[in-house]
Amino acid sequence: MQENTAPATEESRTPSAHDLDVLSRQLGRPVRDVVEIPARCVCGNPLVAATAPRLSNGTPFPTTFYLTHPVITSAVSRLEAGGTMNEMNDRLAADSGLAEAYRGAHEAYLRARDEIAGRSGTGDVPEIAGVSAGGMPTRVKCLHVLVGHSLAAGPGVNPLGDEALDAIAEWWTKDRCYCAGAWETEGEAPSKDLSRHGPQGLPGIVGRPAPVRKSQSTSPTTEEGTA
Ligand SMILES: [Zn+2]
Repeated sequence: MQENTAPATEESRTPSAHDLDVLSRQLGRPVRDVVEIPARCVCGNPLVAATAPRLSNGTPFPTTFYLTHPVITSAVSRLEAGGTMNEMNDRLAADSGLAEAYRGAHEAYLRARDEIAGRSGTGDVPEIAGVSAGGMPTRVKCLHVLVGHSLAAGPGVNPLGDEALDAIAEWWTKDRCYCAGAWETEGEAPSKDLSRHGPQGLPGIVGRPAPVRKSQSTSPTTEEGTA
């Protein structure tokens, strides 16, 4: 269901000043130590931010891929609230093929982080060697992490992140822009951290209701854009 996207180029990965402004608006707080934009909306806005594995204050930071787009974040929160993680954890325990693929996702996450460390000049971060995020390699503890990884890596790398993306298709798909109205675009970008940070440092937008479902299957003859 997901097609392959073009690989990120150095130009598209490098965060512009505008990207950093958009990220802070998406998250409701200033962003720090974002070194790459690994996934973008079709309109160009960031979907995921990559944070250096060592922050500029020296802190090791294992969560490399951070889902920033509020529409996706709230849709994934809805999945979490609906019990998707329990169901995935049950399947991980019962399905050795899935468990193996998920371990592969963990290893891919670590490799991608090493590459980012190399490109960003962070160097080795031994404190978090072998530590990925989101519960990988054996548990699912945060679907936002898995979806962020899937968006950054493309389909076929993180099976449970891919599943979660398919499961939010009624609220977000990568072929359309959902940015309009998704964050405050007027005034100054946040200069103070106004958000609550949950596990994984998720911003306060978690827990908002999922976006209204776009009418599609209710009336097959209705074209988009008439609403
Ligand atoms: Zn967009």
